[in-house]
Amino acid sequence: MAKTCAFKAEIRQMLDLVIHSLYSKKEIFLRELISNASDAIDRARYLALTDGTIAPEAPEWKITLEADAEAHTLTISDNGLGMGEAEMEEALGTIAKSGSKAFAEALKAGAEANIPELIGKFGVGFYAAFMVADGVTVESLRRGEGQKPVRWTSAGDGEYTMDAGARTEPGTSVTLHLRDDQTAFAEGWTLRDLVRRYSDFIAYPIFLKEAGKKEEEKRPEDDKPLNTMVALWKRPKSEVKQEEYEAFYRQTLRGHGEPLRVLHIAAEGAVEYRALLFIPKAVGMEQLMPGNKHGLSLYVRNVFIGDEIEELMPAWLRFVKGVVDSSDLPLNVSREMLQDDAVIRKIRADLTNRVLKALAEMAKDKPEDYDAFTAALGDFVKEGFHSDWENREKLTELVRFRDLKDGRYTGLRAYKDAMPEGQKAIYMLTADTEQAARQSPCLETLKAKGYDVLFLTTPVDQFIAGDLYEYDKTPIVFADKGDLGLDEASAKETLDAKTKALQPTLDAFAKQLEKTVKEVRLTTRLTDSPCCLVQDPAAMAPAMRRMLEAMGQTVPEDKRILELNPDHPLVQAVAAEADAARRADAIDLLYGQACLAEGTLPPDPARFNALVAGLMGR
Ligand code: ADP
Repeated sequence: MAKTCAFKAEIRQMLDLVIHSLYSKKEIFLRELISNASDAIDRARYLALTDGTIAPEAPEWKITLEADAEAHTLTISDNGLGMGEAEMEEALGTIAKSGSKAFAEALKAGAEANIPELIGKFGVGFYAAFMVADGVTVESLRRGEGQKPVRWTSAGDGEYTMDAGARTEPGTSVTLHLRDDQTAFAEGWTLRDLVRRYSDFIAYPIFLKEAGKKEEEKRPEDDKPLNTMVALWKRPKSEVKQEEYEAFYRQTLRGHGEPLRVLHIAAEGAVEYRALLFIPKAVGMEQLMPGNKHGLSLYVRNVFIGDEIEELMPAWLRFVKGVVDSSDLPLNVSREMLQDDAVIRKIRADLTNRVLKALAEMAKDKPEDYDAFTAALGDFVKEGFHSDWENREKLTELVRFRDLKDGRYTGLRAYKDAMPEGQKAIYMLTADTEQAARQSPCLETLKAKGYDVLFLTTPVDQFIAGDLYEYDKTPIVFADKGDLGLDEASAKETLDAKTKALQPTLDAFAKQLEKTVKEVRLTTRLTDSPCCLVQDPAAMAPAMRRMLEAMGQTVPEDKRILELNPDHPLVQAVAAEADAARRADAIDLLYGQACLAEGTLPPDPARFNALVAGLMGR
């Protein structure tokens, strides 16, 4: 019944790259295979909870390494779930694993130094075996009734063969025939060292059997497991080293880069649980995508229940990775039951609080770290500010915006504390980029007064702009909307007087621009520019409008307000212009400039260009 098949093209390509890579830490293959073995035991234990045929013998779950230094072989065996024929074919050969192609591409692009991370990211750990082996045999017997053993062999050269296997006990063994220059992986001391370094917290005992070792050479500790087995989160915080957290984050949780903060939690009281949470320094593209799987791994009394348990974290915290272990949940808890389980809800609320607290502490004690966090993940916090009502108050203290004064990330508290005497509002401006915001004419008066302005420039900023109307009893005012709230009574009177004097000019503007502008008025907003476009306080920010339009949505029209600077020589020149045609040109020119200043095109760009060219000609 043996059949030989070709690997899918992308697996072949990946294998080729893995085998020929110059990557020096080839030893990582071992932790990948041990981790697969441990996963297989996790799955067997989980299924056994509801299916009596999976493990009726209640075995001692374990992983065994058999090393034969003479024969240059290493076998990694487990008594986990095992694989049936179809499962094996799917897992190890024919079905294109979505990850393998992306993995191959990353390798080709020269990311060799990151092989361990890439393997984790793309879920292709098994194939790391071919970095050290020129032949791999997998023997497996699936747990459950009526299963037959199967064998899979490959030299990593483009083909694999499957036939009837010989395994009699349920589980899987992976035998590597080591390459001539990799025979150290069949030596006991190498394996002991590697297990301690990479796989110490694997929850099942890992035993070592060395072929050909004479009775008299044996030491009593040879029969003991190589690993301490205590899950990292079960160990006292004071005994865990930073490297161990980092190794766990990268190897077990498939974390990206280095963690920025680690939260090691032992909660007691209303709910009892232990948890390890990691706040990353950055996230991969995939985590930014809406609908991307996220969530924490869940263990109940040491039994692995599942990963990507979304119920354990609010959606906005999907960048957090980690593990939760609770003894307050029943062992037979199913994914469906998690959805409205009171214990899970309590754990989620508690974890959320702890993350919020950790972020607040970071912002206070380590502002540089918090700036880096904001740069990489600040949009998630803003999403939380927008969506997580229960925690709105805490999240308000955590959002940051670039500011006008020194271009730094600034929070509302810091902004308010630094407000000069007499400043009555917090000023903000939405724009496509920080640069555009900085140059907006709407800020001229604020700049002259020495007031700072917070810039909202990311797409997420546009979404939360509507939620920002007040902070700690101080109104939030958008610099391009409505009244700036500066006008002292006397200034208002002067403006009224000027409006009276310039009324015919204002009317001329309004008539000529009636299709695009809903009102033309004088302003105190400007000092250097002749005019600017502003909007009603309730209107949608122009950047938001462009974004929605780009997404193909129809956005109801809302006309802008054109504000003129009564003291500007150009505005005064228009007022003094007797020639109707020349005045009309000047109005279109000024309006076109106001459009450009806020980042939109003039309504008739060709005419605008012609007018500018005409001016230059003169
Ligand atoms: P990943 O483990 O990230 O899915 P791998 O390439 O390491 O990717 O493994 C591919 C698949 O092969 C696993 O998902 C699993 O279904 C199967 N597999 C690997 N090793 C074992 C094992 N020891 N026991 C049972 N199944 C295994």
